[in-house]
Amino acid sequence: MSIDPTSAPARVCPICSKPEVETYRPFCSKRCADVDLNRWLTGAYAIPVSEEEDEDGEASPHADPRAG
Ligand SMILES: [Zn+2]
Repeated sequence: MSIDPTSAPARVCPICSKPEVETYRPFCSKRCADVDLNRWLTGAYAIPVSEEEDEDGEASPHADPRAG
């Protein structure tokens, strides 16, 4: 009995069905890992996707009319 690596069941990325990469198992890349993560994150929390990280809106940018 010899183990033939070619006969071993190859796992594929559940996102894009490409051969998985050990570093990103069970995915083929970090991108696909993020995709999967984002899928259940959005499904669990339904958070809006923000592309920018502008959280610097604590104070109103417009000037106070009484000032001056
Ligand atoms: Zn993939």
